[in-house]
Amino acid sequence: MSMDLEERLATLEHRCATLEEQVLALSAELARARVGGFRAIRDARTCPACSGRMFVHARQATQATHTSVIPLGITHEWKWTGPIAHGVMEAFACRGCGLVELHVVDFADVVVDGVKVVAVDPEPDGPREGPFR
Ligand SMILES: [Zn+2]
Repeated sequence: MSMDLEERLATLEHRCATLEEQVLALSAELARARVGGFRAIRDARTCPACSGRMFVHARQATQATHTSVIPLGITHEWKWTGPIAHGVMEAFACRGCGLVELHVVDFADVVVDGVKVVAVDPEPDGPREGPFR
């Protein structure tokens, strides 16, 4: 085997070993990565920020007004008796890092007016037949 060929072979072996190390490192990183993307604390019982598993759950999150404490809602309406919450929320707070997650408990009283509150629906699927499928 010529000297030039031996050098090229040694270079290729070195590059191959480096690539194997990188593949192993990436495999380990992939194994640590979460599959399926973000999962809510409510569902996973694990904090997406710190992986903590201890939380505080406020079944009805509240907020203070000048005169009282009312449920925290996604929207509010003002009546002569004071603010009324719509889309009342619950809260989960991670006791490890303090991350807070809010969820609307019931959308029944949320008014979707198309201006201040807009319904966002899934994009329609493309046509299944014809020239644009
Ligand atoms: Zn956390």
